[in-house]
Amino acid sequence: MNNLASFFNHFFITLSRYCTPCHCHHCDTPIIPMSSRYALCSDCQKLCTPKPSIMNTPTHTIHATFEFTGVIQTLLHSLKFEGNTAAADHLIPKTTTIPTADVVIPVPSHPSRIRHRGFDHIETLFRPLYGNRYYPCIQRIKKTPPLYNKSAENRKRLLRNAFQWNPEYTHNCKGQSILIVDDIYTSGSTINAMIQCINHHCKPTAITVFALCRKL
Ligand SMILES: [Zn+2]
Repeated sequence: MNNLASFFNHFFITLSRYCTPCHCHHCDTPIIPMSSRYALCSDCQKLCTPKPSIMNTPTHTIHATFEFTGVIQTLLHSLKFEGNTAAADHLIPKTTTIPTADVVIPVPSHPSRIRHRGFDHIETLFRPLYGNRYYPCIQRIKKTPPLYNKSAENRKRLLRNAFQWNPEYTHNCKGQSILIVDDIYTSGSTINAMIQCINHHCKPTAITVFALCRKL
């Protein structure tokens, strides 16, 4: 029975691919064209409902909006690797209270990655939320490989001297509260390297982290 249902489901999806031009990017269900700028079916849109969480580590507090799974993973992948900036529409939290501070500092991508993508995905996600409090004070001067599968010691070694402070922004940040923003929070190594850089160059009153997704 299940096989028969699965066959008809597959048949319907294949047939409809030829009859309708638009499918959900996540589950492939046929949808009405242009029902959203980045095509998601209504079921997958419901899965984009924010699930805010707060986590404390010895060095910082992290606010996250989503868990890095399912449709959220598809959306972020599409934004970062397929250049689909419309995917950000579903990722930018509109319904939850977002953390705030005097100054918002993005975790930078390496300039070569931004050139390759043609846009800065962190800026696409967060500048609309924070406007003129968004200061790209830190540059990534070392291209690091993905860190999620590296040991804590290796992550620390790879991130050594990865970030450089832009002194133009020092007067904007000194004695202010700071919010670091990033797309995915995994081990905290990148954030710890950012915090070290910030503490070294300006003495903030507080540092908080806001990650769109938390990788469990
Ligand atoms: Zn779907």
